[in-house]
Amino acid sequence: MHFSLVVRSGIFLAAFAARETIASDPLVEVTRKISAEVTTNGKAYSDLRELTTIGPRLSGSEGAAKAVEWAKRKMESYGADRVFLQPAMVPHWTRGNVERATVTSTPQPIFLKVTALGPSVGTPKEGVEAGVVEVQSLDEVDKLGAAVRGKIVFYNRRMDATGTSAFRAYGKAVDQRYRGASAAARQGAVAVLVRSMTTLPDDDNPHTGMLRYEDGIAMIPAAALSTHSANELAALLKSDPKLTVNLKLSAAQHSPVSSFNVIGELTGRDLPQEYVVVGGHLDSWDLGSGAHDDGTGVVQSIEVLRTLKALGLRPRRTVRVVLFMAEEFGGVGAKEYASQAKAKGEKHFAAIESDSGGFAPVGFGVDGSDKQVAAVKRWAPYLALFHADAIKKGGGGTDVGPLGAQGAVTIGYIPAGAHYFDFHHSARDRFEAVNIEDLHGGAAAMATLTYLLAEKGL
Ligand SMILES: [Zn+2]
Repeated sequence: MHFSLVVRSGIFLAAFAARETIASDPLVEVTRKISAEVTTNGKAYSDLRELTTIGPRLSGSEGAAKAVEWAKRKMESYGADRVFLQPAMVPHWTRGNVERATVTSTPQPIFLKVTALGPSVGTPKEGVEAGVVEVQSLDEVDKLGAAVRGKIVFYNRRMDATGTSAFRAYGKAVDQRYRGASAAARQGAVAVLVRSMTTLPDDDNPHTGMLRYEDGIAMIPAAALSTHSANELAALLKSDPKLTVNLKLSAAQHSPVSSFNVIGELTGRDLPQEYVVVGGHLDSWDLGSGAHDDGTGVVQSIEVLRTLKALGLRPRRTVRVVLFMAEEFGGVGAKEYASQAKAKGEKHFAAIESDSGGFAPVGFGVDGSDKQVAAVKRWAPYLALFHADAIKKGGGGTDVGPLGAQGAVTIGYIPAGAHYFDFHHSARDRFEAVNIEDLHGGAAAMATLTYLLAEKGL
């Protein structure tokens, strides 16, 4: 029999066996207790209110520093055995208060909705004014070559989720935002405008996000256009291919500053030197207040600790809540955490991340060997109570990724994803966008899987 068939039938038998015995299984009782505790006494929602009231938590900002203090106090108040701050130097970039893109060649100026990508450089005070070349891809810029010299390149490929998931659609479109500035600058362009990464086809909100400037290539200003403004600009270009746009951005890069990952522990009763991490990222973009991205992951992870503590559940391995800093600027905190873990010889057994929004639970994505994935799949029957029993291979996540390289099985919480990019990195990502039952259901599912991994292993 082919190996994968052995594994698949093994999973089937394991799931079947679990269902057969589940009525008399003490782990089912634990699952029910976790569910009741989170439903009755859950704090993730009120914690999210507090965290988002601090405001945006851009890497290196005052909001991020306040969130560090808040998270530390919060985990102490829930009775963590140990809470500590792990220093990391993080990027510091500011948006400033000028973000304007104006079509200047029309009889009346037309204002487009625009926001700087981070860490874009700013423009001169008077702005950058030039003709606009619309493209659909980075390849097209390469082919146009000298034709974009002195121009503003306008990347307008849609993030199209037709027949696929929103996350896959994001993956297929985001190269424009991430690498578009350097690709255009290489051919002599003076700035870039990028269609916002959202599945909303006609949204007034621009969605920001990270770009990467390639070494040795001029850093040119880069901004996201709302999809509404991108549609408008494309239509205007059809009637006047020679139109001009003036782009003004007051964004600025600064020297890195000192910040922290926030770490809270529930010491393992039997194998305290083995760790199961559960976490999210504490920093956010600055246009909303970082609710779905990733306030929900932060408060769900804290809720895992609170729930286990409140129920007196102390698993064999140490449960470590890690709130990572500066994920949005390249996963800086995650790299620091993993390098410290390696230097200290800490054995990370498994790491769960919640950074796909606070929507209704669906399941978990597992990065690991086929054997590890199959081992996580056998816990699916216990996650069914939360509708979080879809376990698929792949999808661990940015912040836990570096721990995977050290042998940990890395796991990403999967909520319903269809609307995540309505909010993602935009002014719409606020507390009001989160539903309490969805948020708490996810926290309970994460607490259950964390407990199972820390208590029973793989
Ligand atoms: Zn995120």
